[in-house]
Amino acid sequence: MTDPLPPLRDVIKTHDLQAKKSFGQNFLLDLNLTGKIARVAGDLTNSVIYEVGPGPGGLTRGLLENRAKRVVAVEMDHRCLPALEEVSAAYGGVLTIHKADALDINEQKILEIQNGEDARIASNLPYNVGTALFVKWLTIGEWLPWYKSLTLMFQQEVAERIVAVPGSKAYGRLSVLAQWRGRVRIAMRVPAAAFTPPPKVSSAIIHFEPTAPIDDRVALADLELIVARAFGQRRKMLRASLKGLDVNALQLLENAGIEPTLRAENISVAGFVELARHYGLMRA
Ligand code: SAM
Repeated sequence: MTDPLPPLRDVIKTHDLQAKKSFGQNFLLDLNLTGKIARVAGDLTNSVIYEVGPGPGGLTRGLLENRAKRVVAVEMDHRCLPALEEVSAAYGGVLTIHKADALDINEQKILEIQNGEDARIASNLPYNVGTALFVKWLTIGEWLPWYKSLTLMFQQEVAERIVAVPGSKAYGRLSVLAQWRGRVRIAMRVPAAAFTPPPKVSSAIIHFEPTAPIDDRVALADLELIVARAFGQRRKMLRASLKGLDVNALQLLENAGIEPTLRAENISVAGFVELARHYGLMRA
């Protein structure tokens, strides 16, 4: 099917969709580009896609053109809804739209995933809530989660933090959490000029696929606490940065087999997992 709708520039004019900063709105108007992003998400013919912030519908149309089985979109800006209804009508109702704040949504409830369908998340995220949503999707209690993949636009600097390896400046809490939960890569770089209006920084698409836990004896809360403490004072040695914990920091490091003079940025994901496991054991 070739996209039957008017160019996005015309949609924006017709519906008077001036981008608003408060909603983190930077629109993609090139359907070749949004089609490319949709293809990063994979074979969508059996997938229900959850899209946050469809705006005027650029990525949505890319996903539909890429033969997504269904798309369920959540948009906070009511001005976009009439334009999105037109997209839904043109594609025979495969797209459903909810006006809501994605931070408050119970995704599984609105997606109504049917037997035989898989679910994926694809979104050009609003920058102001992008990291919070990503963390929400990585900290789902039951792992493996309900989705098969995440294909998400971030500011390049955030994307680099997500994929960063130990020993690099960008390595931190987001890297450990993402790499603990799955396989992640930067799939595409997107220059600022691709957006209307162009943001100050360039962007990148990350693709994430959840994997089974490295060690399922580790509690998420314990890992989050250890990582937050360790990177909260990233210049300090672990024996100092973990001192405020309710267990003896030196004993914890010894139990986990980690040198107390190392700093957070030198500890691998597996090292943090080991620390969190021993922390749990010491408190049991
Ligand atoms: N997907 C469109 C595109 O690629 O051109 C728009 C992307 S724009 C960066 C982010 C979109 O998310 C905007 O349409 C904005 O109104 C919407 N948005 C911002 N905060 C939101 C929230 N908390 N929940 C749902 N949508 C939100």
